Amino acid sequence: MAKIHNFGAGPAKMPEEVYEIIRKELTNFDNSGISLLETSHRTKGYMQLNLEVQNVVRRLLDVPANYKIIFMAGGGTGEFAAVPLNLISRTGTADYVVTGDWSAKAAKEAKKYGKVNLVLPPTDRYVDIPDQSKWNLDPNASYVHICSNETIHGVEFDFIPDTKGVPLVADMSSNIMSKKVDVSKFGVIYAGAQKNIGTAGVALVIVREDLLNQALPICPSLLDWTANAKAESILNTPPMFAIYVMGRVLQWVERNGGVEGMAQLASQKANLIYGTVEQSNGFYSIPVAKNARSKMNVPFRIGSPPNDDLEKEFLKGAEALGLIQLKGHRSVGGIRASIYNAVTVAEVETLTKYMKEFQNKHAK
Ligand code: PLP
Repeated sequence: MAKIHNFGAGPAKMPEEVYEIIRKELTNFDNSGISLLETSHRTKGYMQLNLEVQNVVRRLLDVPANYKIIFMAGGGTGEFAAVPLNLISRTGTADYVVTGDWSAKAAKEAKKYGKVNLVLPPTDRYVDIPDQSKWNLDPNASYVHICSNETIHGVEFDFIPDTKGVPLVADMSSNIMSKKVDVSKFGVIYAGAQKNIGTAGVALVIVREDLLNQALPICPSLLDWTANAKAESILNTPPMFAIYVMGRVLQWVERNGGVEGMAQLASQKANLIYGTVEQSNGFYSIPVAKNARSKMNVPFRIGSPPNDDLEKEFLKGAEALGLIQLKGHRSVGGIRASIYNAVTVAEVETLTKYMKEFQNKHAK
């Protein structure tokens, strides 16, 4: 069998070194003679691990002291509900900047708990981030929500919006820890773990302390950031294994140059694919505007107009070479290469080599 190169959008490739560590530690957590899977979350060993993971997040993103770091069950979608449940009470209304399917889903969920103002005119063609001068922000909003990287459409913010003092909330599920971010510019950052920081089942939440203590009375304790922060993320039995994996992945990031190191590699990998597309004389194309192109998820089409049969053949040929999970999301079609932190430059080079060979074989 060919060596596998996993370009899946999530759950996504893990750093190989982390697997080795997990394998070694799996049956003997904290030298207790038993696995973490059968350890109580109230043990000293687990509480120590929980703190260690918080600390590595704080170091990597330089999280200021007035922010809490919490681990929440329920992934990114859990946080779509948690955001309004925890924040919308101040004015009953919130701004949503919809730049793709994920932010659209977040806005839809928020509507259950208050009034949602759509900052941009509705569209189903997500190919850019409109200039901020075109945004219809409501000064009375409790918060402004963005998705910093739209995993399906490959649309990524290359700037932090100015929300004029209204707390900015960002879903960073698919680009957290891929670059430096100034956390102090955000009220809340959240991310499901299964792309860049581990495995499914947990969301990382970074929340400014002054935004706590205003959850709606109907907010379930499980989704209440204040209750979870107070309990140091051990309010109930947490997704311990996912939190442990997050810790080991983040320690790997730290050993490999931190978020600055990841950012450098992300640019190198993204440039390889975007460059190959640009040099293809239109054989490959990317719908996304240049300044909004994601460094984590690169969607592209083959042929002009896009040729479904050729795309199918591309995917088949890729799989034969071990290049897997390259099919675009069913809502947009085409090809999508997800190149998160764990995907190596060499793997991306294997992909771009294949792209060039495929073009040579099929371009008219
Ligand atoms: N937000 C973004 C940007 C995502 O890509 C995803 C999942 O792919 C989610 C939210 C939903 O995450 P989950 O599946 O953990 O609920």
